[in-house]
Amino acid sequence: MAAGSAIQIPTRLPLLLTHESVLLPGSTMRTSVDSPRNMQLVRSRLLKGTSLRSTIIGVIPNTSDPTSDCDDLPNLHRIGTAALAVQVVGSNWPKPHYTLLVTGLCRFQVLQLLKEKPYPVAEVQQLDRLEQFTNGHKSEEELGELSEQFYKYAVQLVEMLDMSVPAVAKLRRLLDNLPREALPDILTSIIRTTNQEKLQILDAVRLEERFKMTIPLLVRQIEGLKLLQKTRKSKQDDDKRVVTIRPNRRIGHGSITEDEEEEEDHDDVVMLEKKIRTSSMSEQALKVCLKEIKRLKKMPQSMPEYALTRNYLELMVELPWNKSTKDRLEIRAARIVLDNDHYAMEKLKKRVLEYLAVRQLKNNLKGPILCFVGPPGVGKTSVGRSIAKTLGREFHRIALGGVCDQSDIRGHRRTYVGSMPGRIINGLKTVGVNNPVFLLDEVDKLAKSLQGDPAAALLEVLDPEQNHSFTDHYLNVAFDLSQVLFIATANTTATIPPALLDRMEVIQVPGYTQEEKIQIAHRHLIPKQLEQHGLTPQQIQIPQVTTLGIITRYTREAGVRALDRKLGAICRAVAVKVAEGQHKEAKPDRAEMGEEEDCKEHVTEDSKPESISDTADLALPPEMPILIDFHALKDILGPPMYDMEVSERLNQPGVAIGLAWTPLGGEIMFVEASRMDGEGQLTLTGQLGDVMKESAHLAISWLRSNAKRYQLTNASGSFDLLDNTDIHLHFPAGAVTKDGPSAGVTIVTCLASLFSGRLVCSDVAMTGEITLRGLVLPVGGIKDKVLAAHRAGLKRIIIPQRNEKDLEEIAEHVRQDLTFVLAGCLDEVLNAAFDGGFAVKARLEHLNSKL
Ligand code: ADP
Repeated sequence: MAAGSAIQIPTRLPLLLTHESVLLPGSTMRTSVDSPRNMQLVRSRLLKGTSLRSTIIGVIPNTSDPTSDCDDLPNLHRIGTAALAVQVVGSNWPKPHYTLLVTGLCRFQVLQLLKEKPYPVAEVQQLDRLEQFTNGHKSEEELGELSEQFYKYAVQLVEMLDMSVPAVAKLRRLLDNLPREALPDILTSIIRTTNQEKLQILDAVRLEERFKMTIPLLVRQIEGLKLLQKTRKSKQDDDKRVVTIRPNRRIGHGSITEDEEEEEDHDDVVMLEKKIRTSSMSEQALKVCLKEIKRLKKMPQSMPEYALTRNYLELMVELPWNKSTKDRLEIRAARIVLDNDHYAMEKLKKRVLEYLAVRQLKNNLKGPILCFVGPPGVGKTSVGRSIAKTLGREFHRIALGGVCDQSDIRGHRRTYVGSMPGRIINGLKTVGVNNPVFLLDEVDKLAKSLQGDPAAALLEVLDPEQNHSFTDHYLNVAFDLSQVLFIATANTTATIPPALLDRMEVIQVPGYTQEEKIQIAHRHLIPKQLEQHGLTPQQIQIPQVTTLGIITRYTREAGVRALDRKLGAICRAVAVKVAEGQHKEAKPDRAEMGEEEDCKEHVTEDSKPESISDTADLALPPEMPILIDFHALKDILGPPMYDMEVSERLNQPGVAIGLAWTPLGGEIMFVEASRMDGEGQLTLTGQLGDVMKESAHLAISWLRSNAKRYQLTNASGSFDLLDNTDIHLHFPAGAVTKDGPSAGVTIVTCLASLFSGRLVCSDVAMTGEITLRGLVLPVGGIKDKVLAAHRAGLKRIIIPQRNEKDLEEIAEHVRQDLTFVLAGCLDEVLNAAFDGGFAVKARLEHLNSKL
């Protein structure tokens, strides 16, 4: 920019028409070019021209060029700025356009338009920066005061800006070096002005006029800056005040006395230190805590570590290092508590009492951890709670299901963001004593992951040799867990890691029989539900037959949890009736009356409530107690969910009932077989494990090798059972994975039925592993399996001979309902499974057919 010296522009200038921006002499502007005329100008003149002259163009502001090429040229603004094109940048996105960097030289006036296409060219007259003005500084003298005033404002404005910014410092220097007449244009393009204002300045050809018009713009900007600085300052003051509040208090200004101030200021940290010193934590812990508190005192509160350290110290203070409850153990009382809380479970109660007795005799017991293993809802957790009650200890349950990170047990190191102690230490903090009963629920559902093996961490917790100095990663000091009584629960031992299992004494808690369930319901569950729903026995009566109905038709479980839920549903429904009845003084309740009538039909002699009178007054609220019969059951719980389907499903050959054990208790399992023409293939469906598949192959092989003996033939009468025959074996409940060897005898029976065409007895169920030689080997879970068969109403149960000892565990009344067949080989199984025996009958049939 040749500021200060005269400029001579050509008399003919190509014109660039700008719409949104105004270029003033002495300033630089970047403008986007995309209209056809302007594009032509850039292409033909700027990009192709070679001389310096060809880079000088006339910029005419405030004129929008039509987008279409053929349209007439719009009216042009009279005055424009001659400019030097400094840079051209082309781009094709989002549409073809150029970006032009132009520097304004001087004003000009359009005298005559010489041509319009492809871009306008005009004859122009230069209006300023002519030689006669720049020489002799005539204008400065003439303008005198006006120019001086302008200069002062300009200096004031620039000095209000941050002079440490290089561009601002440069501008300050320019104010002194540039000729005064150039300043209005330059400053107008720097300060905040609208296009309209810039246009007015452009149009102000006379210098005096330009100065006059620019001064108010400068003043406006100065005022704006002043206001801005004022608000900024007040905000800074506020900030400073916040920061200085604490120091001021320390010095003891204002009304706060020295003592109060001292107390308040040392506040939490001092209190914390006091607490640490008076707490009964171990020596090692005290040392660590004092070191930490020293660090804390030096730390600014805003540091993230401050909160972290404080939380740590607060936890350390809260932990029950030396606080414990006093055991009040008396075996006789314990027996009463256990008996009162739980019906049946004799074996479990006996073992628990033994355990407690040893504890009573020997104060510090380093024995194995008790682990209750059994299906859900059999009272494992509630026995744990009872143990805590008998000992007078706090109870805390730690659910381990799905825990797959060892930090869950052992805590995170304090270096992690969001670190926290593990569940053991957290539990101790919650109960507030160091000798609670901790129930480690579902240890069989611990999982492994990349974050380490939580079971391994539990080992340290449970091992009496190690747990007196259990070190949680978060605490980083040892905590004595030897006073804690750990009890574990699990559904199965199969998935408990062996090392963990080794440290535990497993006590099996089998499922309940129907009779036991009825007793549990009437002694424990129903009274509990009544209390929870605010009902009294005078308002609701559930006879034992109804309970049996719920057990057999609405639940299929080893425990009593679903039964408890159903009883809850009944209580809720009755609560509504009772509440309604209290308001319905005069209105008869027809539905209720109908229900009561039904009740009368179903109630057995011993459970018939005396309060139901035949002369029930229709004008009174529902007769109390409301009796729950089968009709009411259906109303409340819906149609029965389980029907006795056993006999229906055994009405054709190729079906047999097996007994399976699952972590949820025993279950009856149907095995179905069918045959079809084929090439001797065996298809197995029902999500079977490898062991079960092998059992199926074993069964087929045994039957094939004994086909003649039992006169078993395929469809075409051949003893080669797989000759031109495919067999399909299916184990229903296909969504459930099944495995284990105990289905062996059932598969043999099912296939024997298929090939002999005879029906298996509908009331027989069986379990047992088989060998290729036809022996029956013992299996596990006999008690659960027998209970399942009993629940399903089956009468005869075939079990391996060597499982005879397991029958002792089964309650007498269940045994009386059932016939047990102890089978040593498959002959005995088949004989017991078919009415009239298998082999004999088969031979007779064969003889008959020959006749
Ligand atoms: P688990 O821990 O075995 O899954 P819970 O201990 O949670 O089962 O028991 C479920 C419910 O059944 C509890 O309300 C419990 O009181 C009750 N319950 C289970 N067995 C008995 C029993 N033998 N006597 C009394 N109530 C029982």
